[in-house]
Amino acid sequence: MNRYWSPLLARLHPYVPGEQPTSTDVIKLNTNESPYGPSPRVIAALQAELDDRLRLYPPPESDALRAAIARHHGLTREHVFVGNGSDEVLAHAFQALLRHDLPILLPDISYSFYTTYCELYDVAYETVPLTDALELDPADYARPNGGIVFANPNAPTGRALGLADVERLVRASERVVLCDEAYVDYGAETAVPLVARHDNLLVVQTLSKSRALAGLRVGFAIGQPHLIEGLLRVKNSFNSYPLDRLAQAAAVAAIEDTAWLAETVGKVVATREQLAKDLAALGFDVLPSKTNFVFARHPQKPAAELSSALRAQGILVRHFKKPRIDEFLRITIGTPRQCEALVSALRGLL
Ligand code: PMP
Repeated sequence: MNRYWSPLLARLHPYVPGEQPTSTDVIKLNTNESPYGPSPRVIAALQAELDDRLRLYPPPESDALRAAIARHHGLTREHVFVGNGSDEVLAHAFQALLRHDLPILLPDISYSFYTTYCELYDVAYETVPLTDALELDPADYARPNGGIVFANPNAPTGRALGLADVERLVRASERVVLCDEAYVDYGAETAVPLVARHDNLLVVQTLSKSRALAGLRVGFAIGQPHLIEGLLRVKNSFNSYPLDRLAQAAAVAAIEDTAWLAETVGKVVATREQLAKDLAALGFDVLPSKTNFVFARHPQKPAAELSSALRAQGILVRHFKKPRIDEFLRITIGTPRQCEALVSALRGLL
C-alpha cells in the first residue's frame, strides 16, 4: 500500500482490457473490434471538422449527437445521454443510479467492468449464477434488490435473451435495471422500445463494435428523461466536455449511415456462422452467439494452451482465467481470411 494513495485504491481491482499490440503483423481477434473500417461518411465528417474551431470547447451536452441518436430510435434528445465510450456511460450509471440500500444483482459471468465500478463507487452487489448452459434465467432475479445490471447479448458468452425475458428482469426491480447492449446489432433484440413503458430501464449501447469506432470512444444510454437527467448531473460534476468536437461530428455521421451498418454487420454475421461451423467440425463446443465473437471450448485441449500456442503464431484471442469459463476461448469475428487462418492454425494444433 502506497502511503500517498487513498484507502479506496487498496481494494480496487481495475479492469484489464485485452492486449493492444503495437505490431500490425498479428491477426487480432481478442477485443471485439470490427474487422471493417467505419463508414466513409465518418472519415469525411472528421475531415470537415479539422479546422480553426478546434480552439473552441465542443458543445457540452453533445446536443446534435443526442438528437441524431434520438431520431434513429424514434425518441427525443431528453431520452439520450452520451459519454466517452459506453464504459464511461456505465460508470456514471453506477454512481448516479445504482447505489441504494440493497445490493444490486449481476450475473456471475458477465462484463467484468461491472464489479470494478461497484468497487470504485461503493455499490454493494451480489452475483447470480448463470445456468449450467451459461444462460441467464430471469426467475433467478426475483428477489429484493437495489437494481439489476446485465449485458444482452451477454459477454463473454455471446448468448442473448428475448425481449419478454428482458422485460421480466425490468419488472424484477424497483430500482434501475441497466441493459448493456454493446453487441445488440449482431442479432439480438434491443430493449429500447421498452423504455416508453418502464421508468426504471436504462439501455446502454456503444459505437465501438458494430459502428467500428472503438478508437473514437463514443457510447450512449437511452432511458426516460428523469434517468438521463441523473446521468447529466454526474457528468456535469465530472467533466463538462467528455466528447470532443471530432467525436461528436463523427458519431453523428456513423449513426446516420444505417446502410453501412447493415452491410458490415451482415458480413460479420455471415463470417460468424461459418466460423462456428468450422470450429464445431474441429470438435469445439460453440455457444450460440448473437455478437461479433464466439465463445468456444475444446473437450480435449485446455483453452490456456490453445491461446498461447495461437499467440506464438501471431493470432490473438481472449482467454479468461476465471472460474466456470477458463476452458473457453473468446474469439472475435475477423474477416473471412482471418477466420480461415485461425481455423487452419487450430487444425494444426489439434
Ligand atoms: N459493455 C460490454 C459488454 C463490452 O464488452 C464493452 C467492450 N469492452 C463495453 C461495454 C465498453 O465498450 P466501449 O467503452 O468501447 O463503448
